[in-house]
Amino acid sequence: MIRLTAIDKHFGPQQVLRGVDLAIAEGQVTALIGPSGSGKSTLLRCVNLLELPHGGELQLGEAQIRFSAHAAPRREAVQQVRRQTGMVFQNFQLFPHQTVIANVMEGLLTVQKWDKARARQRAGVLLDKVGLAHKADAWPSTLSGGQQQRVAIARALAPAPRVLLCDEPTSALDPELAAEVVEVLKQLATDGMTMLMATHDLRLAASIADQVVFLEAGQVVESGNARELFTRPRQPRTAEYVATLT
Ligand code: ADP
Ligand code: MG
Repeated sequence: MIRLTAIDKHFGPQQVLRGVDLAIAEGQVTALIGPSGSGKSTLLRCVNLLELPHGGELQLGEAQIRFSAHAAPRREAVQQVRRQTGMVFQNFQLFPHQTVIANVMEGLLTVQKWDKARARQRAGVLLDKVGLAHKADAWPSTLSGGQQQRVAIARALAPAPRVLLCDEPTSALDPELAAEVVEVLKQLATDGMTMLMATHDLRLAASIADQVVFLEAGQVVESGNARELFTRPRQPRTAEYVATLT
């Protein structure tokens, strides 16, 4: 359902992604692991086109884009890709001046042009799904970090994206609060949501992912079935990196 082929990205003279290939099947959870600075966040941002790659190809559902350093991709294709992705950030990034339910409704009202009643109804269903229906009218600042991240997940899911992109979704949270977010993500995975998650938490990756991709210095060192990659890595560098997970 998602295919990245030979993705290149640089910031000025620094090449951050080098010929990255990645394929994700519908309903699969893929964990993107690798040291800090290896390009995980940039790769996620290249999937929803918050960053434009300088080379390679992206296929997402019916949308297909070929990137070049010289020409910007068609606006309609970019919008088509953006509409099919939802993103969850490390630091939640809720709108502080809006209530919880207004946060979840926001995209439905402004981007999808839904009417208020319909948006409120869908937001309510999603808040229920992440266990926060009772917080609908609360302000984000009154919630715990784990609760805020669950609201952010509900907000990302509101437009029914084909894929949920998560960038270090538990890294800003204490273990107990991270656990409640992991529970929600696991439930989504069980429900068949397609997910691409950047994380340096190998335990999280091992517990949720079908497929793992190990990125280093902007290159895929190794990718494959999660259990195999963690128990029988083929590349020495992967073995070294995952050795901390015992
Ligand atoms: P990771 O998420 O794996 O820690 P990032 O994708 O955030 O890695 O960063 C990869 C490299 O790209 C780093 O060297 C980082 O400094 C650089 N980088 C990321 N975003 C930008 C940017 N907007 N401008 C310049 N350099 C960037
Ligand atoms: Mg990152």
